[in-house]
Amino acid sequence: MPIGRRGRMPACHPRHWLLTITYMRKEEYAEVVVVGAGPVGMTAALCLVQRGKQVLLLDQAWRRSSRSYACALHPSALRLMRELGLADELLKIGRRIERIAFYEEHARRAEVNLAGTDAEFPFLLLAPQSELELLLENRLRAQPRALLLWNHRVTAINQQADGAWAVVEKLAETATGYMVPSWDWVVERTFSAKAYHLVGADGRHSVVRRELAIGEDTRQTSELFEIYEFEVEGEPPAEAAVAWETGRTSILWPLSGSRCRWAFQVASGPEAEEFPVKDREPVEYVEEGQPAAREQLRGHLKERAPWFKPAVGEIVWHGHAQFQPWLATRWGFDRCWLAGDAAHQTGPAGMQSMNAGLLEARDLADAIAQAQENPDAAQALTAYERRHREKWRGLLGGAESLRSGPETAAWADRNAARLLSCLPGTGAELVPLAARLGLAFAPPACEPARGGG
Ligand SMILES: Cc1cc2nc3c(=O)[nH]c(=O)nc-3n(C[C@H](O)[C@H](O)[C@H](O)COP(=O)(O)OP(=O)(O)OC[C@H]3O[C@@H](n4cnc5c(N)ncnc54)[C@H](O)[C@@H]3O)c2cc1C
Repeated sequence: MPIGRRGRMPACHPRHWLLTITYMRKEEYAEVVVVGAGPVGMTAALCLVQRGKQVLLLDQAWRRSSRSYACALHPSALRLMRELGLADELLKIGRRIERIAFYEEHARRAEVNLAGTDAEFPFLLLAPQSELELLLENRLRAQPRALLLWNHRVTAINQQADGAWAVVEKLAETATGYMVPSWDWVVERTFSAKAYHLVGADGRHSVVRRELAIGEDTRQTSELFEIYEFEVEGEPPAEAAVAWETGRTSILWPLSGSRCRWAFQVASGPEAEEFPVKDREPVEYVEEGQPAAREQLRGHLKERAPWFKPAVGEIVWHGHAQFQPWLATRWGFDRCWLAGDAAHQTGPAGMQSMNAGLLEARDLADAIAQAQENPDAAQALTAYERRHREKWRGLLGGAESLRSGPETAAWADRNAARLLSCLPGTGAELVPLAARLGLAFAPPACEPARGGG
């Protein structure tokens, strides 16, 4: 039966609702369907549950990601994690970094000290994205009102005046081939997941965005990065760093223990076209190309960051990722709304895409809860779009958003256009960070009501 004619969700105890999902039905119901169980989708689901909603969370992958990816949490994201009851666990596993150094042509130009920028969390927390996703998933699993299903791919969405539904394929692994068997994914069954609202948190290659026919407003040129995560021998660095050399950006993030991550902007690489899908392989393995990768890393360091002293130990993983700054022309309409990488991307240095996405997840959950409780409050959703699109226009505004003045050092003035995406903050958080470099963060449009969170 189409959701438009059904009117109300079946009234049932949450646990009973969870049981019904296991039946071989052609339709499943929830108050909100979230597509994509990355950090943003899982945060949206948890925030919705906190607001009393039943949530069905679908992801086409077989498990959460297994790499550090966006490995720093901004103070605003830490406050959100505290609201979700996850801050203490994150603080235990993460590494606090209070300083970011800026280098230009091998010369140390400045450092941004985070002390005093936030009353509660005056630091960045370096924690692998895989660990954040694990904590979010464990918290979700403990919620009777939430159901997370891996191996469930959304192929289409539709919406009517009073609801939305996703066409979902349940995937299963099967052996194929004769003589030499190989494992492949097949569609085990197809069903509709129906809800009053649908959240598209399905990342860079969002099917929800495609289905809503929402366009992409591409800003600036794309940047390809070669990323190395490795163990260091000797004293691990105590600060993060951004280094510019012959127009290329390199970024250092010290992780917990003796682990570090460097990302080097390069002109070309094997995966130069598409933003890669996240790796799910749970085992950290020593790759075949380990010696070659180590040599490449040493070469990059010698050329771009000769001031980096620790010796290179074992490489944990390395790969390429192309970052294309862009913004969705709309963030949704009626019953379907986007958040996170489904709606935007910027460069990797400031970890802005995921951190902004986490705050969007909370705001969108607020707006959906308001709209479901009071149909006259549907404008909460358009207000969500307006606030966060404006925030992103500021983030992608380059030198227009980050202005120099008479007090600005020459090196910061020269690099103002690329500095913005290197600052670890979004929204109002950027104001004190920019000020420490003698710059003013003044985005063309107004700030979200919540500020930086
Ligand atoms: C190699 C690599 C390196 C990175 N390095 C950095 C970095 O240094 N700094 C930085 O800021 N960011 C980095 N990122 C980006 C960062 O990981 C993302 O910003 C972050 O994951 C965004 O979170 P999200 O929840 O919005 O989307 P995602 O984490 O992409 O989650 C989207 C989820 O949706 C699921 N999905 C997609 N389509 C469907 C569908 N049709 N049906 C069901 N499920 C679907 C996917 O399986 C995925 O789990 C990196 C990413 C990669 C891949």
